Amino acid sequence: MFRCAVCQAHSQKSLCYGCQSLIQEPTNPCQICAKPLNQADGICGECRSDPPNFSQTICAAIYEPPVSLWVQQLKFGGRMDRARIMAEALLEPISKVDHNIPILPVPLHPKRLKSRGYNQAYEIAKIICKKQQRPLLADVLIRTKNTAMQAELLEKQRAANVRAAFVVNKEIAHKKVIVLDDVMTTSQTLRSVSGCLIKAGVEEVIGAVFARTSG
Ligand SMILES: [Zn+2]
Ligand SMILES: [Zn+2]
Repeated sequence: MFRCAVCQAHSQKSLCYGCQSLIQEPTNPCQICAKPLNQADGICGECRSDPPNFSQTICAAIYEPPVSLWVQQLKFGGRMDRARIMAEALLEPISKVDHNIPILPVPLHPKRLKSRGYNQAYEIAKIICKKQQRPLLADVLIRTKNTAMQAELLEKQRAANVRAAFVVNKEIAHKKVIVLDDVMTTSQTLRSVSGCLIKAGVEEVIGAVFARTSG
């Protein structure tokens, strides 16, 4: 017998029907970065003026309560049941991508990983890969900069700070890779990871995030 992870009602999935309906998909997502737009089938201003090096972003939810709370509970509260909710929300959209294409969770800086004890993106990716029998690229990238002080930096410095914050650790045999993170606020992290993978010979990077901020 299973129970809904949020309201404890009987449920075969992590979320009952009612709690599932609390997950709002982005309306009119930008075709590249999934930012919600006013019109359908559009590309946002940022992707127009500075085209990303990834082809699209799969996104399950808008970063608003209660979704934002679940994200924080996983990231800061060790709530692994929240990773299951996020993975289940991403299963259907990611299943549309060929099953030979691996998922690469965005790595944490080794110091951050040590203090937190787990990487939330890895926890989500692990569940999806197991369900879809999809390869998981777990230790291919190393995060070389600790971007913990992000909030205190000016916007320009912040972009430069995230840029080149990853290095490839292993040879990558795949031509296409799905890069997965829990939340996407700007496309900067995904651009940075993507640039690193493309340099290493990857031809197409597809982003996948559980939640996207609307701003
Ligand atoms: Zn429920
Ligand atoms: Zn965009």
